[in-house]
Amino acid sequence: MSVLILCYHTINKNGKITPEIFEENLLSLKKKNYSSATLDDIFNYITGKKELPERTVHLTFDDGYRDNYSEAFPILKNFNFKATVFLITSRVGMLGHLHWQQIKEMESSGIFSFESHSHTHPRHSTTQPTKEELVNDLLVSKKIIKENLKKETKHFCYPYGEYDNLYVSALKEAGFLTGLTLNIGLNSVGQNPYLLKRVEVRNPKTWLENRLRIYSKPFISNIYEKIYRKI
Ligand SMILES: [Zn+2]
Repeated sequence: MSVLILCYHTINKNGKITPEIFEENLLSLKKKNYSSATLDDIFNYITGKKELPERTVHLTFDDGYRDNYSEAFPILKNFNFKATVFLITSRVGMLGHLHWQQIKEMESSGIFSFESHSHTHPRHSTTQPTKEELVNDLLVSKKIIKENLKKETKHFCYPYGEYDNLYVSALKEAGFLTGLTLNIGLNSVGQNPYLLKRVEVRNPKTWLENRLRIYSKPFISNIYEKIYRKI
C-alpha cells in the first residue's frame, strides 16, 4: 500500500480550486474509500513502525491563507479527513493570511494540524543560504508556533518545493522529522521522510477523480511517476 498526500493552497471562488471543486474532491476520496491519517501516522508508516489502511490520504495546505478557515474548514468538518496547514510564520495575521485566533480554533477541532513552511518563505535555489541561515529560519518558525500553539513542530514543507542536501541536513539539525516536496507520487514504506511526495490538485472538478484511477493503484502510479518525470 501507499499514502497519497494532496497539496492545496487557496480555496476560493475566484481561484483555481473553488469550494465546489474542493468539496467534490473530498466526495471522490470518500467514494474511493480513502482513510485519513496524520503526518505523524505517515512518518510512522514509512519508517515501518505503523500499519495504515490500503488507501490512505492526507490533505495539506501551503502558506496559511485565510480562506483555509473561511472556505475549507466548514467543508472539511463534514468529512473525516485530517489536514495540515504549513504556515509561513512571518505572514501570520497579515492580509489574506490566517491569524492565530483562527489557527487555534482550527487546531482544536482535531481536523487541522499546523506545521512549518519556514519563517520567511525564501526561494532556496536563488537565495543560496548557508546551513546556519537555514537552521535559524527553521528554528524561528518552530519557536513562533510553539509560543502560540504550545506544541513542537515536527513536519516541514519546502517553500516552492525546492530542496537540496543542505536543506535536508538543516531540517535534521532543527529537529524536524519530515520534509514535504512537490515531487509527484505516492509514499511507501522505506521512503525518505525528508522527501515526501505530494500531488498538487488542479481544476476542473473531475481532475482529482480521474487522477485517483492512477493514484489508488501503487503499481500504475509508479509507472506514471516514471513517465511524468521524463516529460
Ligand atoms: Zn509556499
